[in-house]
Amino acid sequence: MKRLEAKSMVLLKHHLKALRLPTINAECDKVAAQCATDNVDHLSYLLQLCELELLERERKAAERRMKAAKFPTTKSLATFDFLARPSINKILMLELARCSFIDERENVLFIGNPGTGKSHLATAIASEACAKGYKVRFFRVTELVTALIEARDERTLQRLKSLLGKLDLLVLDELGYVPATKLGAELLFDVIATAYERTSLIVTTNLPFENWTEVLGSERLTGATLDRLTHRCKIIETKGESYRLKDATARSRTKKS
Ligand code: ADP
Ligand code: MG
Repeated sequence: MKRLEAKSMVLLKHHLKALRLPTINAECDKVAAQCATDNVDHLSYLLQLCELELLERERKAAERRMKAAKFPTTKSLATFDFLARPSINKILMLELARCSFIDERENVLFIGNPGTGKSHLATAIASEACAKGYKVRFFRVTELVTALIEARDERTLQRLKSLLGKLDLLVLDELGYVPATKLGAELLFDVIATAYERTSLIVTTNLPFENWTEVLGSERLTGATLDRLTHRCKIIETKGESYRLKDATARSRTKKS
């Protein structure tokens, strides 16, 4: 077969760069040599290159979505010990990881004591959503409330709200660890009310519903928040003792023996 002249090769690389096809640019020589060896025709060669370019684009986009989600830790369902937490239904978690709840604009609420795997499961499911192409953002509730108050003071609240409005899934971690101020509670309610039936929420909390008033201040606001949040919502209770505590006890036992 006639080979491409060096000059044409330079031109080809130039065109591929101008067309923003970096993977085809990097791989075309290697794949061409392999196709020549395998006696593969031109269209199959082109198909292979296009597939490589697309795969790499999808990988990079998923990486960007993961970065934009700002997860504080990397967690997956694969590293969750379901035997250690029998109150968690593994089949339901795998179902949530398929993310149809996001298409249905449903919410997920994890309720349970500290260390029972709420943030782990929330992060794992939200990471699956990133991989599947959904726009996700993870916030600790205190961090979001601070950001909302700051944005309000700087008159950039609308901008922040429009950013939140573009998300498919918003994770609100640790609702209830710190009571919100009246303004904080109102701004948080506004985010939850705006997300209602538009953006899915995953909320984790250590607070039983009856104690939410302590955090949100007014009964009216708590009622309205719970009403939005729990309508079309999977409520998952992570019962049992803290995994951190169990883990630490097991480790100190191994050390002693
Ligand atoms: P919570 O948010 O309920 O306070 P976390 O999800 O932060 O608890 O869990 C505390 C730590 O223990 C994390 O490092 C988490 O990965 C780990 N962990 C909790 N439950 C499990 C489990 N069942 N299997 C594996 N690791 C777990
Ligand atoms: Mg947590």
